[in-house]
Amino acid sequence: MRALSHRVTFAPILMFHYIRVDRNPYDYLGIRLSVAPSTFSSEMALLHRYGYHTITLTQLADHIRYGRPLPRKRVVLTFDDGYEDQYKHALPVLRRYGFRATFFIVSGFVNRPRYMTWRQIKQLDRDGMEIGVHTVSHLDLTTLPTRFLWHQIYGAKLAIEWHLRHPVRVFAYPSGAFDGAVLADVRRAGFIAAASTLPGTLHAERTLLYLYRVRILNSDTPQTMYSYLLDRFGNPWEPTPYVP
Ligand SMILES: [Zn+2]
Repeated sequence: MRALSHRVTFAPILMFHYIRVDRNPYDYLGIRLSVAPSTFSSEMALLHRYGYHTITLTQLADHIRYGRPLPRKRVVLTFDDGYEDQYKHALPVLRRYGFRATFFIVSGFVNRPRYMTWRQIKQLDRDGMEIGVHTVSHLDLTTLPTRFLWHQIYGAKLAIEWHLRHPVRVFAYPSGAFDGAVLADVRRAGFIAAASTLPGTLHAERTLLYLYRVRILNSDTPQTMYSYLLDRFGNPWEPTPYVP
């Protein structure tokens, strides 16, 4: 068995949800998770202006596992849940700058109102975006009996792969919830990397199945987003030295 790599990599993984203007004053969570299309556009313009390169989660995993080189100024863009507004408002901006991003799809929600269709997801795939798995129905995986847990993880992978006609190797936990049994099933299903919602920017081989992310909220501006890219805040519960 290959020894674990001790490489520690700095790579901010930004986490987006809705790219829209939420006008419902009672939808507190929805408003918090909504980035206005104009703000998103300014955030991407800033990344482009400052010379950032977007990498996929697979590229990050390949760097951590095999030492494949990464650009010095790198950032991973991730979009959770597969909302249609991501297709409408994020994709054109990503294309404008030649950026790549990872979209985590809930297989059972595809084609529902407000979610992307399979046709749109295939378009993302063709446009060079990475498609990841976000379970069948977005349940808290830590509460499920074994059999249902496997279906939520592996069933979603099979469905997405069937539509895209190629393997899909990255995963994100609904609401960031995972435990030992969930991690074991994600590994057994063949995923090489999985995104959590734990905050942080340093990654290592042992954290590949719960990669840290930086949540970008409605309250963020391009400037606050940029500050997260510079702030090499570690992972307080797992102190790891910064190694360039
Ligand atoms: Zn989600």
